[in-house]
Amino acid sequence: MSLATTSDPVTEVPKKLFISGHWTSAGDGAEMAVDNPATGEKLCSVADAGPEDGQRAVDAAVAAQPGWGATAPRERSDILRRAYELILSRVDELAMLMTLEMGKPLDAARGEVSYAAEFFRWFSEEAVRIGGDYALLPSGRSRQLILRQPVGPCLLITPWNFPLAMGTRKIGPAVAAGCTMVLKPAPQTPLCSLALAAVLAEAGLPDGVLNVITTSRAGGVVEPLLRGGHIRKLSFTGSTAVGRILLAQSADAVLRTSLELGGNAPLLVFPDADLDVAVEGAFAAKMRNMGEACTAANRLFVHDDIYDEFAGRLSDRLAALTVGPGTEPGTEVGPLIDDVGRRKVRDLVQDAVDQGADVLTGGTLPDGPGFFYPPTVLSGVTPGSKILHTEVFGPVAPLIRFHDEQAVLRAANSTEFGLVGYVFTQDLRRALRVSEALEVGMVGLNTGVVSDPAAPFGGVKQSGLGREGGRVGIDEFLETKYIATPA
Ligand code: ADP
Repeated sequence: MSLATTSDPVTEVPKKLFISGHWTSAGDGAEMAVDNPATGEKLCSVADAGPEDGQRAVDAAVAAQPGWGATAPRERSDILRRAYELILSRVDELAMLMTLEMGKPLDAARGEVSYAAEFFRWFSEEAVRIGGDYALLPSGRSRQLILRQPVGPCLLITPWNFPLAMGTRKIGPAVAAGCTMVLKPAPQTPLCSLALAAVLAEAGLPDGVLNVITTSRAGGVVEPLLRGGHIRKLSFTGSTAVGRILLAQSADAVLRTSLELGGNAPLLVFPDADLDVAVEGAFAAKMRNMGEACTAANRLFVHDDIYDEFAGRLSDRLAALTVGPGTEPGTEVGPLIDDVGRRKVRDLVQDAVDQGADVLTGGTLPDGPGFFYPPTVLSGVTPGSKILHTEVFGPVAPLIRFHDEQAVLRAANSTEFGLVGYVFTQDLRRALRVSEALEVGMVGLNTGVVSDPAAPFGGVKQSGLGREGGRVGIDEFLETKYIATPA
């Protein structure tokens, strides 16, 4: 397959399961529809794997593990580097595929394709830096050798909001570490993962190292694989509710687990903030991916002294955005993923309004096809409103007034989530004090963007376990072995 030579990437992308280097139908012949959220219409069908297909994929990963784990680090590094370059040579085709199945505007999709490719570049550089240790023990009687080995076959489960980058963020370190894997993408966005499998095969990844199963029957397919004793690791990105289920299912076989779960990010604007920076930061933290990101600012706490000005400027900024199909030039905000997602956002806004919030902009559903929701700013959101306790996953900014630093920190931390927080202040001591006090894995200090392949991404509390990216990202796919020998 060559995505480079086609003007219709949906036609060209393989629509089957990818197992042991072969494109195969589901054993029972089942298929599932992939829809375009901008129209609500069907784009195409892909294979819909059942439990036996899942097992076939795991068998392939298990069979490939010994050979793959023994490859030279440079060989694994070179494959990732080639895949990085192949992705960059196909930015437009992959971006179009992403926009059609997921909805984000083409410019944003191009941005994600580059971001996704960067994980391969980063981990191609990490593959050849897996170290070890050698030391004389304190007694002087024995030596220790410490080595790092691949954890073994992995199950990677990804969400629909970043269809390519969530895959490369897991596949990159797994390949670098020498693990084989089964990737199960979200049923809404299987096409980017299938295209990615084709790219990796072209880059020289041996058969069976990456297997991809697309399925609408996630629960029934995944559970026996987690409990079956052949997979050694689960890496999951998705909701906290599903993460809890998978963590429980992973207990039987005592699997290594990395979980990137939900967020409820607080964003704090102090009176000494540079307001231009704060408005732009809040805009980025809220509107990236139409708000469909676990890092999205979910609760915007703004100090009384600057509240009205900040609220007015943010509303003007959001009201000026162009909403439309992601394929249309000039579109800045695409549709939400599906009707379920849109109804959830609509109900959260309605509940906040019922409980006393004012709508500064947006808040009404447009007519016509597709799952569009307008950029919305809510002012004076009251503490009991559901929107402050639920991951919104939509372009809605709930504003809350505050006066006191300690009180706002208590409010910011009063959630079971702990992924990211955003702080806007020009006072260095306050910046550090507040950053340290926030119960989160990441802080955006005078910025609304924290994601980077070179940074350790992850949360505390019920936002997850482990980190992806950065120097530590590869550790999640490695075991440490210690060998003792007499001196
Ligand atoms: P979202 O609400 O954003 O769709 P989910 O947590 O439901 O997030 O989905 C994230 C990923 O987890 C998707 O690939 C989805 O198919 C998968 N998933 C959902 N439920 C289960 C389950 N019971 N077992 C395994 N995977 C699941």
